[in-house]
Amino acid sequence: MSDTMPHLALHDSRSRKIVPFVPLDPGNVRVYFCGPTVYDLAHIGNLRAMVTADILVLVLRHLYPRVTYVRNITDVDDKINARARENGEPIAALTARTIRDFHEDLAAVGILPPDVEPRATHHIGEMLDMIARLIAGGHAYEAQGHVLFAVSSFAAYGALSGRSPDDLLAGARVEIAPYKRDAGDFVLWKPSDPDLPGWESPWGRGRPGWHIECSAMSHRYLGESFDIHGGGSDLLFPHHENELAQSQCCFPHGRFANHWMHNAMLLVDGEKMSKSLGNFLTVRDVLRDTPAEALRLLLLHAQYRSVLNFTRAGLAEAKQTLDRFYRALGDVPADAQGPVPEPVLAALCDDLNTPRALAEMHALADRALAGDGEAAAGLQAAGRMIGLLRQTPDEWFRAGADVDSAAIDALIADRLAARKARDFARADAIRAELADLGIILEDGPTGTSWRRA
Ligand SMILES: [Zn+2]
Repeated sequence: MSDTMPHLALHDSRSRKIVPFVPLDPGNVRVYFCGPTVYDLAHIGNLRAMVTADILVLVLRHLYPRVTYVRNITDVDDKINARARENGEPIAALTARTIRDFHEDLAAVGILPPDVEPRATHHIGEMLDMIARLIAGGHAYEAQGHVLFAVSSFAAYGALSGRSPDDLLAGARVEIAPYKRDAGDFVLWKPSDPDLPGWESPWGRGRPGWHIECSAMSHRYLGESFDIHGGGSDLLFPHHENELAQSQCCFPHGRFANHWMHNAMLLVDGEKMSKSLGNFLTVRDVLRDTPAEALRLLLLHAQYRSVLNFTRAGLAEAKQTLDRFYRALGDVPADAQGPVPEPVLAALCDDLNTPRALAEMHALADRALAGDGEAAAGLQAAGRMIGLLRQTPDEWFRAGADVDSAAIDALIADRLAARKARDFARADAIRAELADLGIILEDGPTGTSWRRA
């Protein structure tokens, strides 16, 4: 990192302060974020956590020569088992489809893939090793086919999330079970019925609890100590508290994560998103009639530690902002590699202050629209830095033309009719016509859906 570069400062959930980021090894900054449990499409709350991680990694890559970013996939979980049964489909089919959809949705909003994307089911051996070590060290015990972590064996339990042992005992979120020594003890391993996924273990055929996978996979790919661990604020307790306890008890010389970051929740129209309120939005729901870049921009309107309120008006505003930015780019060559303007970088280095970075980009756009070519180049570099302005103005305005979804639905119906009539040339011509408009058709078991390219 050169002396002229701004220094990155990040809020640390453990110390509850904004502190300078000091990498353990400046030659390889190591980051772990908890990834999806793959049983359903990603919703826009999930997306916020993924965009936060993406911005962090983009900034780190700008500042340091190498970053190793690990984001896991939870592919063994009770919710997966339940959904597969509900759908009447094999678990492997459900998880494979959900992983594919997740990758597609993230790519659409310009989120770069992690360097390593480990799957829980491919790391059962590492989990079993850790559990055995925890038992040997007196931090875990076997009871009725379960292996439980004994929270009383780790004096610092609760410190990360700032909970006292009394809070923990009174917490309504701990599951009471007769085989637990302490109400706060959590499952490392549990028995599996013959019709559910299971692996042989010294404690019988079973499957892991959720928390142990992240401890095992971060250790495998990042070591006993790594730089940053992150996720949504809903993961702070119990998930991250439990990961920390397991890892510190297993590898007492390591520090596990040096720095913890958590993004705040996303509301929809001022309310918590829920299926029962009817305000539950998947990424696909939003992308059906909105350019993906506008959704990405909207998620950057609030700094990651502030609650973000998603509204349709906010989405329209994000689209207008992009119209303005793309107009301001004018004829800056698409492959220009200008430096990121210092005020934008300084805002991002100030605990990823994306609203301030966007305000700086508006100031650059003002100057660019007044004819300042250097400001236009700076705007493009700033946009690229945070995964925006990746198209040419021409591409943006063409794709941004309002697509009439009723007209698309009518064409889909025509295509279906053509296929029924075995007029495949006509069906293919309709698909090609829509592709020219940037509309991709997807034929599935329940019919044909569409999305923007
Ligand atoms: Zn995790």
